[in-house]
Parts: sequence; structure tokens; C-alpha cells
Amino acid sequence: MFRVGTVYVFRVPEDEELVSYLTSFARERGVRAGLVTGIGALKSCVLGFYDRERQEYERIGVDEEVELVSLTGNVSLREGEPFVHVHAVVGRRDGSTVSGHLFEARVFVAEVAVLELPGEVELRRERYGGLWLWEPGPPAHR
Ligand code: ZN
Repeated sequence: MFRVGTVYVFRVPEDEELVSYLTSFARERGVRAGLVTGIGALKSCVLGFYDRERQEYERIGVDEEVELVSLTGNVSLREGEPFVHVHAVVGRRDGSTVSGHLFEARVFVAEVAVLELPGEVELRRERYGGLWLWEPGPPAHR
């Protein structure tokens, strides 16, 4: 058995902007690699869908209170600075969901865990598409 890393568990205060709050948290704590998970409720949010042809995100504004059904993502280094990348599934009053890359969210409540991993993960800008991504994995064994 191995014991690795640190898990931070906290509630993000009401009316905070979730993505910038998590980014500030990661920078203040010096988290250089990590995983993010959370649940809660939001007053509004802006999600994104990446259009590969146009190489940019389409923004999906959700201007209503929604359940934060699932917040998931990671922390890496982007040009040496901790960078939080999160996706969300949010639930409407009728139970329908909308989801995508999370640009911003106004918090009602958000219970979040940040699992800090040892070491660091440096993002690199992909030549095509302009996305900042992790290194590709090793070739698959055949
Ligand atoms: Zn994304």
C-alpha cells in the first residue's frame, strides 16, 4: 500500500465564481498536479462545446438555478502556473441536464475535493487546434 498526495475538501462560498476560485486555491496551495471532483448547486453557469472545425468553443449560457450534478476535472501546469480544467453536468428543475467544459459558474453551494498528486503535469499547446493538453500516453502494447 502507498499513501500519496493530499486531499483538500471544502465548500466554495456562495456567490463565488467557481473556476477562478479553484484556480486561486490551486495557486495558493501550489498544487502542480491534481484531480477535482464536486457536487452542489449553481445560480448560473457558462458551459462550452469545442468546435473542432472552427477550433474554438461555442458557449452555452445557463441562466437559471441548476444542480451541480457532477463537477470533474484536473489541475496541471500551464506555462508554469497551476491551471484548473473542469467539466460539469448540471441538472434543471425538470431533471434534464446540460453539460460541457465549464467556463464559469456562480455558486449557490459547491462541495469540492481537490486531490493533489505528487509531481507535476505540464500542459503543452497542441500544434493543431490550439488546445492545451497533457502529453500523449505511450504507444499501446499490441
Ligand atoms: Zn474542457
